[in-house]
Amino acid sequence: MTTEEIIALEEQYIAPTYVRPPVVFDRGSGAYVYDLEGRRYLDFLGGIAVNSLGHGVPEIIGAVAQQAAKLMHISNLYHTEPHVKLAKLLVENAFPARVFFCNSGSESIEAALKFTRRWASEAGGDTKHEIVTFENAFHGRTYGAVSATAQPKYHEGFKPMLPGMVYLPLNEIEPLEEAISAERTAAVMVEPVQGEGGVNPAHVEFLRHLRRLCDERKVALIFDEIQCGLCRTGKLFAYQHHGIEPDVMTLAKPLAGGLPIGAVMMKSHIAEVLKPGMHGSTFGANPVACHVAHAVVSKMIDEGLADRTLEMGGKLTAGLNALAETHTDIKEVRGAGLLIGVEFEDKVGDVVSACRDEGLIVGTAGDNVLRCAPPLVIEQRHVDEALGILGGVLDAR
Ligand SMILES: *Cc1c(COP(=O)(O)O)cnc(C)c1O
Repeated sequence: MTTEEIIALEEQYIAPTYVRPPVVFDRGSGAYVYDLEGRRYLDFLGGIAVNSLGHGVPEIIGAVAQQAAKLMHISNLYHTEPHVKLAKLLVENAFPARVFFCNSGSESIEAALKFTRRWASEAGGDTKHEIVTFENAFHGRTYGAVSATAQPKYHEGFKPMLPGMVYLPLNEIEPLEEAISAERTAAVMVEPVQGEGGVNPAHVEFLRHLRRLCDERKVALIFDEIQCGLCRTGKLFAYQHHGIEPDVMTLAKPLAGGLPIGAVMMKSHIAEVLKPGMHGSTFGANPVACHVAHAVVSKMIDEGLADRTLEMGGKLTAGLNALAETHTDIKEVRGAGLLIGVEFEDKVGDVVSACRDEGLIVGTAGDNVLRCAPPLVIEQRHVDEALGILGGVLDAR
């Protein structure tokens, strides 16, 4: 099919929940993707922080083929090897925990909300059910996850939202005292670095204060590391920058190299309240997704991808800061590792499309923030190429 034919079919048959640019991507290799016309693009969005090892990775392709040929699906009702191996690998590299597997970020948030409410209801009864989250957070689109997402635009027309959500400003310590209550609060959920909401890092003092309050008041602390976890910020997990641990951590986006998967890691006090039948998922712990995820996480660890991310993130950030000095429409460059936001004075939609026309894919995080979340395997030449294209686009703006 041609690009035009595909776009025409999309307009006829696909639910109109996305505005897509007029290109059709066809294949990828390393840090590059190619459209149907054979044009090459440097991918600095990485499928929204998913393709952390890049495109067309031989180990990932091999792992898909190997497990697909062996056993594609058997359901969560039976023991299989891939999910226990993956769980063991995650736990050995994070904190002592048990793992629940599902199929997406939103589903891992749903599970985290259910598990922590369950735990809290055993500790403090049904009134201990409030979930505290933060303005500009993004936790997903299913009802529980979107209710926890404190951005009014995602709630419009879908009300009533799930009750018991309390929204606070990020990085402000004072409001926490009042809002986090031993009697009412089940959990506090935070992204160590907000992704969709504008690439906003949570401050270390803020996260440590949260940890202290949650301990004091017997509240579960959930870190949503769906976007910022798995080397993205320059550590295997973002919490590792701060010398504290969450009680529950959600993972998804890059975990299975592009296959759908979600995971919830929970400490034993949360896991202990779960009983067979309380929660489930038909596809969760899918052998192919889990086998591939094991290959992805092993490669990340074996190749020291976190350190490399820190190095390349430093170079990209420095280059973006240099652009900010000569382009007054840039307000701030912020982020961690290779999750970088460039905040502009105005909307960035035109910058994103002009970059794409010049062969560079970047994203947005809110209206005014340009988001870079490239594969973590990028090299200096990719950073130079991206800065060259962006610089040219900004010069012409
Ligand atoms: C993408 C994202 C989600 C939702 O994940 P889906 O797989 O799209 O359901 C939740 N939290 C964060 C931080 C995310 O970036």
